[in-house]
Amino acid sequence: MNDRKRGFYDEEQERMPEKERTGFVRRILRETVQYAYEKAPAARKKMDEAGVQPKDIQDVADLVKIPLTRKADLKNIQKVELPFGGLAAVPPRGMRRIYVSPGPTFDPEGREQTHWRWEKAFVAAGFRPGDIVQNTFTYHFSPAGLMFEEGLIRIGCTVIPAGVGNTEMQVQVLRDLSVTGYAGTPSFLMILLEKAKEMGIDPGDGLQLQVALVAAEMLPESLRKRFQEEYGIQVRQAYGTADVGSLGYECFEAKGMHINDEIVMELIDPASGKQVAPGEIGEVVVTLPDSTYPLIRFATGDLSLYANEPCPCGRTSSRLLRIVGRVDQVTKVKGMFVHPEQVAQLEKKVPEIFVAQLIISRTGHEDKMTIRAMLGAGALPSDALRERIAETARDLTRLRGEVVFVQESEIIEREKKILDTRKWD
Ligand SMILES: [Zn+2]
Repeated sequence: MNDRKRGFYDEEQERMPEKERTGFVRRILRETVQYAYEKAPAARKKMDEAGVQPKDIQDVADLVKIPLTRKADLKNIQKVELPFGGLAAVPPRGMRRIYVSPGPTFDPEGREQTHWRWEKAFVAAGFRPGDIVQNTFTYHFSPAGLMFEEGLIRIGCTVIPAGVGNTEMQVQVLRDLSVTGYAGTPSFLMILLEKAKEMGIDPGDGLQLQVALVAAEMLPESLRKRFQEEYGIQVRQAYGTADVGSLGYECFEAKGMHINDEIVMELIDPASGKQVAPGEIGEVVVTLPDSTYPLIRFATGDLSLYANEPCPCGRTSSRLLRIVGRVDQVTKVKGMFVHPEQVAQLEKKVPEIFVAQLIISRTGHEDKMTIRAMLGAGALPSDALRERIAETARDLTRLRGEVVFVQESEIIEREKKILDTRKWD
């Protein structure tokens, strides 16, 4: 029986003492900035325009001198000079693969087999040599399928390149090949497990899944618990993007995602542009030591927060506690930033609320915030509850809002926690 609770891919690096880690990060930072300045014309242009030389960047704190390169702008940057807009350090023929993301934007893959860095994530999640893994990330244009596959092969697993869809066939394969590992989204894993149940294939009897790495979607703790308790599957989540590969991964403790050792990450306050302290929300910004695609301050658009206390697993890297939303959902109301995480907290702090949504509108020259609350079964609207919701929302956002109780049918665009209806023309 495999021990899926302990284990490292690169123990020395993952457990670097703090002082050594600081030195390591400084070194890769300086090398990357110098390399990008020499080899990637877009990086040089950005630094020249900001009046910054590589020697000005000695420490992570110095990075704020260099402007961000936003993920949302990639397609325009690339269009100016196809295919990579001067961001790549080698010509296309020097790459192993080129992927296409919606936009379209092009994502280069270097010739090093460690380009996407998912090995640590799989080992931390409990994958071991000898696991047969069904990889349900898409292989179609997107790097997702192959980037996870590379990591799995490098740690000694056998991969079934399943991709998405074909639910029934996927379940047959899980059974016939005695598959022990799954990589994909959490929702698709549940779809497969429900299909298996329907087909009379039960955990332990035809279904051998023990471990799963999930990404690209939120993993609710209630769902993780079901995977563990009903199906005996240890599910850990990871975070990354099609541009830069792996950025963070959960260990057995599942108390946040360890930031990959070999990248430089900042969390940036979208309002002030400053690096945030532990526990504060900021945008994930990555500087990537990669000889093919050496990105300097690539802003992912994802909002997160981090902790830097030691983790019981022994890894010494900081952890992203969770991804709380997208920068483009951050809204400014009466000069204050409001973000989806605050609405999620409101739902948590007032248990009577099933779904809450903020509607931001404008009367004359004044912003108005309306809190739409759909109550859970058994909760009844009252003035006292209305008052409690308004007060909790004020504590969270420092803004006053009007509370309106609504029915399910009145919730529009449910995936959005904040709806901005203001017109600026
Ligand atoms: Zn840990």
